[in-house]
Amino acid sequence: MNDSALRIVWIYPDLLSTYGDQGNALILERRARLRGIPTEIVHVHSSDAVPVEGDVYLLGGGEDRPQILAARRLIADGGLKRAAERGAAVLAICAGYQIIGETFGDDKDNPIAGVGLLDIRSGRGDRRAVGELVADVDPALGVPRITGFENHQGRTQLGPGTTPLSRTVVGVGNGDGFEGGYAGHVVGSYLHGPALPRNPGLADLLLRWTVGEIPPLPPGWGERLREERLAAAIG
Ligand code: GLN
Repeated sequence: MNDSALRIVWIYPDLLSTYGDQGNALILERRARLRGIPTEIVHVHSSDAVPVEGDVYLLGGGEDRPQILAARRLIADGGLKRAAERGAAVLAICAGYQIIGETFGDDKDNPIAGVGLLDIRSGRGDRRAVGELVADVDPALGVPRITGFENHQGRTQLGPGTTPLSRTVVGVGNGDGFEGGYAGHVVGSYLHGPALPRNPGLADLLLRWTVGEIPPLPPGWGERLREERLAAAIG
């Protein structure tokens, strides 16, 4: 990997990449480059070792069975955990969010071990949560109201080591009035959309965590998309 570039690691595109979550890697790259920051996107397939020296790690959503396979491989590999321990940023969406917790439920709701980056546990809800999601982000993070699309059976309980990412305004999210969770520079969320193109403020939070202060960008199509989706979801 190029050690003078911002290294964005896209984990397991072959197992975890529903609903265009790869767009999260592309928008991080774009918003970094618009600030003159060189970037490199590294695709790590499930047969590859996860590099430890990345700056931002991205995981997407997945179907129930590939999700279990992805969790097993990530635990056996150990690279993601070591990267998070050395302070790399992580954004994990939906199945990815559940995988980076302590446990998640399989299709019979038996607990499956997760990677343990977040103090969270996921089980199955009694119905699928499908639709638009709107949520107000923890003010400590300086990110405006987020929007996205959710489609999951899982519900997620946060332990004391994890802070809710946001308070749900529309939709289900974790299932307890909150959406997502974070600890240090590790964040998980049910937001597809993909999350970062629809929420430029969340993309810039990850960039600030990795490269420090960055100049604001003039509002563009990402902001317009966010406004349009907020209006559609809230009415
Ligand atoms: N299989 C998980 C669930 O239904 C995650 C789904 C997803 O990633 N969209 O909860």
